[in-house]
This record gives sequence, C-alpha cells and structure tokens, in this order.
Amino acid sequence: MHELTIAREMVRVVKDSLTSEQLSRLKRINLLIGRATAVQEDCLRFGLEAMTKDTPLSRAEVSIEYIEPLFKCKTCGEEFKSEDWFYSPCPKCGSFGCDLLKGDELSVASVDLE
Ligand SMILES: [Zn+2]
Repeated sequence: MHELTIAREMVRVVKDSLTSEQLSRLKRINLLIGRATAVQEDCLRFGLEAMTKDTPLSRAEVSIEYIEPLFKCKTCGEEFKSEDWFYSPCPKCGSFGCDLLKGDELSVASVDLE
C-alpha cells in the first residue's frame, strides 16, 4: 500500500532529525501533503499509527496541511487550479500539456515539542 510506504518514510525522517531527548518531548508532527498525490488521509493515519506503535512517536498528534494543485500550461504559460489533476485542459488555450507547479508535496514540514 502506497500510504504505508509514505508513513514509513515520514517516521524515518522524524526519527533521524530528532535526538532521543527531543523525541520524548514530541507533541505534534506537521505534514504537508499536496492533493495531487491522492494520498488517503485515513490510510496515512493508519500507517503512521502502525509504524509508531510502542515508540515515543505514538503519543504525537499528526496535523496535516493540504496544498491545492496548481498547474502551468506548457503552451501558453497560463497558471490554473483544477480539481481533476490528471486530465485538465488549460482553461485559456485548451492544451493538455501542463506542468504541476504545486500539489505534489509529501513531507514532514515541522514538529512541535513540548
Ligand atoms: Zn494554455
């Protein structure tokens, strides 16, 4: 499952960046997730719970901030937002060739300690 791999990586990042003393004071993990990643919040939370079970991380609250996808048309340069991140023609010229500028984030933004 996609989300379990992501959860494992996020837990690794947090563990690697904090000392054991800091880990014992870990209060909240703040995640940044682009909507274009199509990550399911339920699955991700389940994954994080499974990965942190019986570790100091299990007490930490997980806060998720979502980033709306932003596209840029390769043909005319128009920037636009869209709900359908896979098949969105440019609203200005109708071209399907778009770059994703924002929305593929999948990272641990910060942590809060007690
Ligand atoms: Zn365009």
